[in-house]
Amino acid sequence: MTEDRYSRHRLLREFGSNGQQRIAQTRVFMIGAGGVGCPAALALVESGIAGLVLADADAVDVTNLPRQILHTPDRVGMNKAESAAAALRAVNPAVPVTPVASFMDEARIKELARDCSIIIDASDNFRTRHASNRAAKALGAVLISASAVRFSVQVAVFDFRSGNAPCYQCLFPEDDAEDVKASSVGVLAPVTSIAGMIAAEEALKFAAGLTPASAGSLLILDTLSWDFTRMKIAHDPDCPVCAGYEKP
Ligand SMILES: [Zn+2]
Repeated sequence: MTEDRYSRHRLLREFGSNGQQRIAQTRVFMIGAGGVGCPAALALVESGIAGLVLADADAVDVTNLPRQILHTPDRVGMNKAESAAAALRAVNPAVPVTPVASFMDEARIKELARDCSIIIDASDNFRTRHASNRAAKALGAVLISASAVRFSVQVAVFDFRSGNAPCYQCLFPEDDAEDVKASSVGVLAPVTSIAGMIAAEEALKFAAGLTPASAGSLLILDTLSWDFTRMKIAHDPDCPVCAGYEKP
């Protein structure tokens, strides 16, 4: 019975039936169906969100398979968003998944995410991260920006429903910094899933109506030392994206 599918969420004192009902009304926009995006999308679709729009321009490559858990050898060469959507529909056919097989810029994200209250950036480059930051800020959405390289996880959480929240630009000013990609420095497969699952958990908390402790914070996990740090993100008063956005 589909009624029972989410009973373990309903049992959570912090969520309850009301929380699960709110999850069922929440649409999520996600950029990236790779090592971080696959597990995050899986957890959200398993949890019965109202819908997922999933964007990725790349095709599945054989080197993706150890960590990009929604893709299969027979779908090598297929667009990643399409491949992930096929897997997600099998997992929970009740949740509509809309794959978008193209690159994302600020305008595209604003258009595609307009009905979504949560944006998860699971991309692999700073240009996309700054575009999703500007789009999420303009839409007043929650932005969860998650990444994994080597043995290291970083998840930054921005609650743009509040007009004075700090943003990704406050944390990492846009410059010519080179992307640190798993394709050049490596990553241990499970580390990407840890990043994705942290992003999904925080998204579900927001969806259920909570304001998680991660809001306005950067979470950093080193899985070699198992040091976990939560750092409050300082608001840059001169930030070109969020400074003076909502002056009283
Ligand atoms: Zn800012």
